[in-house]
Parts: sequence; C-alpha cells; structure tokens
Amino acid sequence: METVIERNPVSQQISQHIPESKDPRIVIIGGGFAGIELVARLANLPVQVVLLDKHNFHTFQPLLYQVATAGLGPGDISSPLREFLRNKNKNFHFRLATVEHIDHAAKNVITDTGSLHYDYLVIASGAIPNYFGNEELQRNAHSLKSIPEALELRNSMIENFEKALLIKDEEELQKFMNVVIVGAGPTGVELAGAIEELRRNVLPKDYPELDFSKMQIHLIEGQDQVLGAMSDFAGRKAKKYLENMGVNVQLQDILESYDGETAVLKNGDAINTHCLIWAAGVKGNAIDGVGISNVKGGRIAVNHFNEVTGMQDVFAIGDVALMLDEDNPRGYPMLAPVAIQQAENLGRNFEVFIGLKKDADLKPFKYFDKGTMATIGRNKAVVDAPFGIKFGGFFGWFAWMFIHLVSIIGFRRKLLVFSNWLWNYFTYNRGNRFIIKKKN
Ligand SMILES: Cc1cc2nc3c(=O)[nH]c(=O)nc-3n(C[C@H](O)[C@H](O)[C@H](O)COP(=O)(O)OP(=O)(O)OC[C@H]3O[C@@H](n4cnc5c(N)ncnc54)[C@H](O)[C@@H]3O)c2cc1C
Repeated sequence: METVIERNPVSQQISQHIPESKDPRIVIIGGGFAGIELVARLANLPVQVVLLDKHNFHTFQPLLYQVATAGLGPGDISSPLREFLRNKNKNFHFRLATVEHIDHAAKNVITDTGSLHYDYLVIASGAIPNYFGNEELQRNAHSLKSIPEALELRNSMIENFEKALLIKDEEELQKFMNVVIVGAGPTGVELAGAIEELRRNVLPKDYPELDFSKMQIHLIEGQDQVLGAMSDFAGRKAKKYLENMGVNVQLQDILESYDGETAVLKNGDAINTHCLIWAAGVKGNAIDGVGISNVKGGRIAVNHFNEVTGMQDVFAIGDVALMLDEDNPRGYPMLAPVAIQQAENLGRNFEVFIGLKKDADLKPFKYFDKGTMATIGRNKAVVDAPFGIKFGGFFGWFAWMFIHLVSIIGFRRKLLVFSNWLWNYFTYNRGNRFIIKKKN
C-alpha cells in the first residue's frame, strides 16, 4: 500500500492532533541536551511548543559506556520526555515521531506519523556515527550513540563469552575474547578502561573456565595521542593509565577493514575479534530539506544567533549546528555544554523573534568553556579545567563523578546512579550483566 504524506496545512495539524493556539508554534526536533534545555527556557513565553523525538526519552549520553559495560542500567541514564514536559506549560506537547523531511516553503515538518505546521522550527537532532562510506564496517561494527546501541554492545560482549565456553580451537576462541576499540577520544578511552575493569574484576569470576589473561583489549587511534581534543597532559596521563591497566594502545594507526571477524590495520596488523567498537567518527544528523549547500559533515551552517543560513524562522542548535568563528574554524566541539548554552541563548533570543523585545536585544552566542574531563576507571580520570588548571588521579575521578551526578536529570536517577556506583566500587562487581533480546 502506498504511504501518502499529508502536505495540506489543515490536515497536517489534524494528523498530529496538536490543538489550535493563538500563540506562535515552535517545533523542536530532538529531546537531547539542546532540545530539553530550550523547552525549559521557553516555559514562560507566550508560545506553543511541540517537541518531536524518535524516542520517548532523553538520554544522558556521557554515561552510555557504563550501560554498555553493565555498570548501569538503561533506565538509570534515561528520562521520559513526557515526565520532563509535565510541569512546564499547558501549551507544550510531545509527539513520538521521526522527522523525515522539512518542507520549508510550506513551513511543515514531515514525520513518519504525519506532518506538522510550524511558525518557528528548531533542529536539535544531534549527531550520528560516521563510517566515512565504509558499508562493511557499518554492518559489522558496534557504535555507541544511543541506548539501543549500548544494549546491543552489552548483549554482544556478554554473549561472546557464553559462546567462547563452547569453543576448543584456540584461534577461534580468541575472536570471542578480544575487543577492538577504534578511536581514542573520550568514548574510546572510557570504554577501554571499563572493559579492562570487567576483564580484571568480573569476567574471571563469571567464567572460571576461560583464561582471561589471553583476552586482549586494543585501542586504535589515528592521531599521535589519546584524547586528542584535550591537553597533552591529559593525553599522556590517560595513555599511561590505560597501558598500566593492560590495554594495548596503538597510536598513529588506522583501521582499514573489518569483516566481523578480523580487523585489518594500515600497518598490516590483523586482530581477530567478533567485537569491534567504532568510536572514531561522528557527523551531524542534518534533516533532509535544509539544502545541501547548508550542510557540511552532516552539520547545518548557522550564524551566531543559530539561524540556519538562508532559511527564515529555522534554527539549529547543539551537535547538528555548524557555527564557525575564529577560535572554532571547524565549528564548536560536539559537547553537551555547547548544546545547552546554545539552547539557553536561543531561548533568550526568542523573546525578540516573537516580538516581546527589540532587535537590538538579540544576543550572539558566546561559549563559556567549563573544561573537559574523561575517566579511565576506578580512581583514575583526567581533567582540563578552566584557567589552564589540569589534574588527574583520585581528585580528577571524584570531580568527574560529581559533575556527572549533578548533571543527570531527576533526583531518582541521581540516586540510582550513585547507589550503583557505590555498589560497583565496594564490590568490584557490575550488576547489569544481562543479555536482553528476542531469541532468534
Ligand atoms: C558515548 C558518548 C559520550 C559522550 N560524553 C560526553 C562527555 O563526557 N561530555 C560532553 O560534554 N559531551 C559528551 N558527549 C557528547 C554529548 O552527548 C553531545 O554533545 C550532546 O548530546 C549533544 O546534544 P544535542 O541535543 O545536540 O543532541 P543529542 O543529545 O544527541 O539529542 C538529539 C535528539 O534528537 C533525536 N533525533 C535525532 N534525529 C531525529 C529525527 N529525525 N526525528 C526525531 N528525533 C530525532 C534523538 O532521538 C535525540 O533525542 C558524549 C556523546 C556520546 C555519544
């Protein structure tokens, strides 16, 4: 049966059942860090807000790696978007929908569940993994951008050890034990540290028949340091931590191919593994219809007010927005504070766009860099704080935990994460070692 996409503005509104309103309608695509911050900022303005997301929850992505490595459960780091909207404003609405296209001329967004007219549109659709066109790699590698991907990785890693128990051939067995992580940014480094702790503290007790001294964890990085976006101090310290823990860190090497069994590197090395995690590239998740000339590396070109170049009443914020300036000639880093601060600024500027304030009150975006950090494992983290302050070790790790804990939405989730961390710390265990999937 052919699917008919409704493009008539009247029936488009009916298809999403959003009530008519005298206030201008702001449609926000994406309930990530940028989207939910903007919703909060608009709460006291005379506007109708419709938040669209393909998931019905917000994900705290910085802790995805802990879900993938059984330290936390998926519910510990996700918050239902409806719960978040509940007390904001009666004229705020949520629809579970994947946005497929923007019809700029008609001011409509076309989704898999119908279309919707907007007065203002804010694209906050984040980023997606970038496999640079390598379809074989995309088919076979794991990535870590969402809860389903984190669960898939957790399932696969644990299932590999269950399968390993049944294998006698040494070479075949090694494929089920080895893990290769490509990309030594914060995601790669944090994953490598967490998997190494699993190898040391948890897996030998779960699988006494397997010899975990033979399990290899490889971290492959094309640049000449790990955590390339952080300071030399952080990079050197993180590398030392990882190597001391037993992770095989290979710098200035590039993955050439991966067929699901063997990772071939540019230097000719071949590593046998059924578990390769791709953390070496992300790109913006631009929505179709913003115009090819506006999109670079999947990111949508915006000016300093987050207005999409050449599109009236359309904005992009967060990872998907490409805002250039002298200090950021390739765009701002894809980080949660950038997304949140752009949403804060756009929220203020909406008072001008809807006519409550004068044009002169428009404020360009200015980023306040609060620093960056990464944890490598128990008592080990590196921190590049503002004003050139750098530190690591236990204090870094404590600072990392504190910042992440206060950033998670909701008291219940803070409590869940904190209690899981305490339990993991004192028992050296990980309580979420479940394989949860439909049996084939
Ligand atoms: C594993 C990992 C670790 C990270 N660690 C850190 C860290 O330690 N510190 C830090 O500052 N940053 C970290 N980041 C980056 C940070 O999470 C991002 O910068 C931030 O999430 C960007 O916010 P956003 O709102 O732009 O996008 P997102 O938070 O990605 O939100 C995008 C939203 O859009 C929705 N969406 C996408 N496409 C569609 C569509 N077509 N239709 C409907 N909805 C759609 C998605 O479901 C999602 O809810 C990490 C990211 C990852 C993946």
